[in-house]
Amino acid sequence: MVSDAPTTGKLATRFAPSPTGRLHLGHGYSALKAFDLAQRTGGRFLLRFEDIDSGRVRDAYYPGIEEDLHWLGIEWDETPLRQSERFTAYGEALDRMKARDLVYPCFCTRKEIAAEIAASATAPHGPDGPLYPGTCRRLTADERETRLAEEDHAWRIDMAKAASLAGELYWEDDEAGRVAAQPQIHGDVVLARKDVPTSYHLAVTVDDAAQGVTDIVRGSDLFAAAHIHRLLQHLLGLQVPRYHHHRLIEDEDGKRLAKRDDARSLAALRETGIAAADILSALRGNPPDIGKLTAST
Ligand code: GLU
Repeated sequence: MVSDAPTTGKLATRFAPSPTGRLHLGHGYSALKAFDLAQRTGGRFLLRFEDIDSGRVRDAYYPGIEEDLHWLGIEWDETPLRQSERFTAYGEALDRMKARDLVYPCFCTRKEIAAEIAASATAPHGPDGPLYPGTCRRLTADERETRLAEEDHAWRIDMAKAASLAGELYWEDDEAGRVAAQPQIHGDVVLARKDVPTSYHLAVTVDDAAQGVTDIVRGSDLFAAAHIHRLLQHLLGLQVPRYHHHRLIEDEDGKRLAKRDDARSLAALRETGIAAADILSALRGNPPDIGKLTAST
């Protein structure tokens, strides 16, 4: 394994949607950016279904997403990876963190966490809201043992410990340049959920390395998550990809598109008879212009 080294070799990008809805123009933009980068450089373009959230995933969205991409002429290399089939790999990564005492079990419910935060005068906030107050980090070894045997639990990273062990880390980002990782801003994030034996952060980091992704193209809403991913790459001895965080596609009111914006879904647009070429040229515009592209009348 190449430990914590910058990525080398043939370029590989990926598009990693969750099959919890059909793709909209924002997904199309992201997929196209990744696809175009791979095409320009003779690299690979991979598709990965981020389907760990079984309660929200629907079977019909896997072929639906493939159909949307085919329509735009976006073709992928290799069989798409499904994260729901990768729990063993995530478990192994978590075990390595456990062996180094960098994670701890967390028994808190959402309600308990919210109550503790509400009761605190100085609850620190991170990019995704208030930080976990560290309640279960302070349990004694005995308490932990007893509760582990009896209660559902998540696994959280001991962020202060992990970050200080890692020291200074950087990543290369298209627009931002060389970025110093500050994973501490996120606090003790969950690496394995109570209901799923992994989390977005752990799964994405393990898979990008396993698939040999050299260039991560995704929306700027995930920029802050890269602080965590960079730390995990270091702790797990994985290659460090380059990042291309791109602008988010917005509607004419300046709101970012969401899966519920059916009028901006690729499937609805296709049904109106719009040509895929028109979608592609709008998305490849600089800036991309989706103003006229809507299936609502
Ligand atoms: N699965 C995430 C999404 O649907 C993308 C994750 C990533 O690109 O890192 O937005």
